[in-house]
Amino acid sequence: MLVDTDGLLIAIENNDPTIAQVPSWRKFSLAAGAPVGICWHYTAGATPHDIEAVRRIRDLNPLDQRSWHLWLSQEGPIVQSVPLIKGSWHVRRRSPKTPAWAKGGINRWLIGIELESKDGTEFTDPQLHAADKLIGALRCWHPEWPIEAFEWGHSDFDPPPRRFDPGPVWRFLLPGLLARHFKG
Ligand SMILES: [Zn+2]
Repeated sequence: MLVDTDGLLIAIENNDPTIAQVPSWRKFSLAAGAPVGICWHYTAGATPHDIEAVRRIRDLNPLDQRSWHLWLSQEGPIVQSVPLIKGSWHVRRRSPKTPAWAKGGINRWLIGIELESKDGTEFTDPQLHAADKLIGALRCWHPEWPIEAFEWGHSDFDPPPRRFDPGPVWRFLLPGLLARHFKG
């Protein structure tokens, strides 16, 4: 798996998960022209299980401004809705814990990744495999990113009781995934 010059995710190996492009119009320029890391989320609530459902979420309510870059389904396929060289609307602009460096809001700086999960207590093996491949692709794309660039989650910026994602289970699983890509 790799990121091409347009910021699109491309499968290149036999064991790469399927990648579907379902473009969203809810995108804008990033503050620095490129992201500086990622922000993990889980989808919560009634979770869709196919690409058609992703399309419905996106198109159902034109007043709902939410968008995300990548959606990692529980079955393994990845759906991309915004190029990684653009911003998407995954964190509210005036989140109380927005760091000083994130001028204009987190969405101008970080890639939003949605993990399909009803309540953040369960992530599947195909989903973990997709996350692993994705981390590898992002490492190749931006080798200068420190490990912290892969550790941010929604609740870091907009803490409970407003946002709980990506939750303790993902935060427990993530270091094991990252260790495979940050050796030595
Ligand atoms: Zn979130």
